[in-house]
Amino acid sequence: MRTKIKSILHSKSPELFLEKEVTIAGWIRTVRDQKSFAFIEVNDGSCLANLQVIIDESLKNPDFTTGASISVTGKLKQSPGKNQALEIHASTIRLYGKSDPAKFPLQKKRHSFEFLREIAHLRPRTNTQGAVLRIRNALAFATHLFFQKRGFLYVHTPIIAGSDCEGAGSMFRVTTLDPTQKNKDFSQDFFGKPAYLTVSGQLEGEIIACALSDVYTFGPTFRAENSNTSRHLAEFWMIEPEMAFADLKDNMECAESYLKFCVQYVLENCIDDLQFFDQFIEQGLIERLIHVKETPFEHLPYTKAIEILQKSSQNFVFPVEWGIDLQSEHERYLAENYFKKPVILTDYPSKIKAFYMRSNDDGKTVAAMDVLVPKIGEIIGGSQREERLDILQQKILDFGLKSEDYWWYLELREFGTVPHAGFGLGFERLILFVTGMENIRDVIPFPRFPGHADF
Ligand code: ATP
Ligand code: MN
Repeated sequence: MRTKIKSILHSKSPELFLEKEVTIAGWIRTVRDQKSFAFIEVNDGSCLANLQVIIDESLKNPDFTTGASISVTGKLKQSPGKNQALEIHASTIRLYGKSDPAKFPLQKKRHSFEFLREIAHLRPRTNTQGAVLRIRNALAFATHLFFQKRGFLYVHTPIIAGSDCEGAGSMFRVTTLDPTQKNKDFSQDFFGKPAYLTVSGQLEGEIIACALSDVYTFGPTFRAENSNTSRHLAEFWMIEPEMAFADLKDNMECAESYLKFCVQYVLENCIDDLQFFDQFIEQGLIERLIHVKETPFEHLPYTKAIEILQKSSQNFVFPVEWGIDLQSEHERYLAENYFKKPVILTDYPSKIKAFYMRSNDDGKTVAAMDVLVPKIGEIIGGSQREERLDILQQKILDFGLKSEDYWWYLELREFGTVPHAGFGLGFERLILFVTGMENIRDVIPFPRFPGHADF
């Protein structure tokens, strides 16, 4: 039976494997030919490290080249080399698939991330992408662990939405109508009306929270905004907790604890991959993560943040005045330069936030919160929701929306309304934050962005 390399190299008691026969399988990373024997480095993706295989003259094969797939059976021995503790002395090797070294695109040198994006089918075989995907997996697991431990239910909200209820941005249309047909009649369309891909599961999350108390969604989210930035994707994954009988304070506590839990989880479970990122992607990464985990986040009302930005000597591209929607340059200045840690901004002007956020008593601001982190800016956006029927009705009118479209949302306030709050976290931004990677296109295996929908 095949053993994963991780369970050998990361075993709590590797001595149990010593002098025993094991079979591993994976892809050849490098071959170093010596006179009477050869070293083959094999990687199977289960961990960053390769396992070194030693083969003697009789097993040598010119088809053992970088990229080829093999399985190896042999005795595991202590390695005299300084780079690894264990190695396999091969007794048999099976070649599964050759890989012509003259044609194989992944050479030993480091490739640019731009180049690697063009070969998304081979990119997972690189150290960086392997580490990203293992951390992505760990963060997904940590997300479920965190919310499940707190008694949140994982709920599934629809991917096809009837309308842009949240107003979160441009949507992709879902239709079975003939695209060449002019003057389309959407009453003849599949759903009998226009339909779109979801931009958020929040409103449906609220419905379920207003019955089951604490819930979260974790699903794909689509935005057709033409944002060609290193922090936006057209298809990304969002985690959206929603809590009944909770206010903005509870919301902030949940967001901060969740981020810290994720950081703690990868520090405990993915240290090899983090060390790799610390060495090759962002120097000081691990120190930064420990700092995040141990330092209370700064809490600050929007109005105070505007004052800080106005007093700063920074030359912002977008001028700062009360009422503006903060740009990522402003958000990053606050988190990165001014406070040097994650910041939770609250109480934004109602005009720049969605209609459902709870009005504050000042009549100008709402109980919104954005979590801003160094390097990225906004990683979480959330709020306490307006639970008062009359105020919500007025807000819907003020925002030029139609009450009929929100009849069910209003009924949640009519029948047994409760204070409730929640937030949305962009999963890929969390991965950027934890790995130090610079571009969001490199932390999802098959990125979707303007002009890019192929594999
Ligand atoms: P931004 O201002 O950065 O475009 P937003 O305010 O439009 O974000 P929200 O509607 O608040 O985003 O969505 C909640 C979270 O989802 C954001 O805090 C962010 O982490 C993530 N997010 C939003 N849009 C995208 C996107 N296009 N690609 C990846 N993540 C996104
Ligand atoms: Mn937001």
